[in-house]
Amino acid sequence: MIFLAIPLFVAFLAPSLAQEPSPREIDGLTAVPINIHSVNAKVVFDLDTNKAKATADMVFEMTGDGGMPVFDLRQKIDTITLDGESIAVETCAPHDFGRLSGTMLILERELEPGKIYTLHFDYQLRQPVSPQSNPIGWGDGKLNWDFFFSDLNQGRYMEMWFPSNLLYDMFKFDLDVAIKGTEVKHLLVSNGVTTEVGPLHWKVSFPDHFTAFSHMLVIIPAKDVKIGGGTFKLNGETKEIRVTVRNDAGASVETVLKQVESDMEEFSKTMGAWQHTGPIEIVIWPGSRSMEYDGATTTAMGALRHELFHSWFGRGAKPQSQNDGWWDEAWTVYFSDGGRTPASRTKTEGKPFELSSGDEWNRTTPSTSYRAGSFFFSRVAGTIGEEELIKHMASFYEKHALKTVSTAELERHLVEESGNEDLHQLFHRYVYGKEGKYGAEK
Ligand SMILES: [Zn+2]
Repeated sequence: MIFLAIPLFVAFLAPSLAQEPSPREIDGLTAVPINIHSVNAKVVFDLDTNKAKATADMVFEMTGDGGMPVFDLRQKIDTITLDGESIAVETCAPHDFGRLSGTMLILERELEPGKIYTLHFDYQLRQPVSPQSNPIGWGDGKLNWDFFFSDLNQGRYMEMWFPSNLLYDMFKFDLDVAIKGTEVKHLLVSNGVTTEVGPLHWKVSFPDHFTAFSHMLVIIPAKDVKIGGGTFKLNGETKEIRVTVRNDAGASVETVLKQVESDMEEFSKTMGAWQHTGPIEIVIWPGSRSMEYDGATTTAMGALRHELFHSWFGRGAKPQSQNDGWWDEAWTVYFSDGGRTPASRTKTEGKPFELSSGDEWNRTTPSTSYRAGSFFFSRVAGTIGEEELIKHMASFYEKHALKTVSTAELERHLVEESGNEDLHQLFHRYVYGKEGKYGAEK
């Protein structure tokens, strides 16, 4: 994610689980992470009443020894069933996990490990109860709806609209979405596989390697945008580029396509092949807020390059938890935004700096990831040389594309590839924010 208001360069398959957090006691309940297998949801937007009815089925199993499942949904739920049995909504309430994580739902039922459960939810889809969320755009015969994810606040991914999990979990998501009460033509733009099943009625299928922050979806009246497309050649393979430009964004489809093609070529040459399964999906809008998704972006023109690069780092090789969210912003600023500091200026020791917190339930990327994070990569470049660093980041992407990966694995990778043990000290001081010498505490 990027806000243009912040100067970019101030100094210059089967559903799978990565490492889930440990169970945690909250309000006298033991919250146990779950492994979501699939989410299947349906929404009907009614433009006569300006109400949206939603239903969602979440199929999951417990991790570890089982216990009370914890997950999130930032909507006011009307009814819940567990395997068809009615559950009192009050027994699936939000509980506060602290400043960095916000609230999550704990279902007050002891569930067994190794069994598959289905939770069913009915609710009216409204503006999510998440910090700095956007309302649904109800207009006269028109609908504007954007998933509008963000890394910078907790509770701002899929859980805003549908039941979802923390980043360690990959799961399949199928969405059926329809608009009633209007004849106005609307477009649905998404990085899922989209089928128009009727007038103003779509089915969108998101792949099972997606995590809570992967899904891009925008519904917009067709006459408010210009659309276009092109192709991009990658190792003899042709990839489709699809562009949707809002009329008020002040850019032409041709300008956008030209920039996408040139950036794609540069990033593919330096970082490795684009790995995403679908077309490259770009939505351009005005304003200061831009966001990356897997193989896609909703972005201001000025942040297009930055967001596109995130399809390699951030939504290509993906952070395994929010404690790993710093490196994708840091490396994106360093590489795509030119946020590099000369080696001569990276030698002063400076203060320790924490970019990766020790809170396993953290759901916020620190805003210091951009500046202090890119400065960290400048320190690495100053230690092993920039060419080496770029080469090792490319092999890191290659190894982890479409998978999640932790800060510890990045550290191990850079040390092993460069053979330079001094990098441990840089992580120790400028990523984990610790005083003293690396290894001294052991
Ligand atoms: Zn970003």
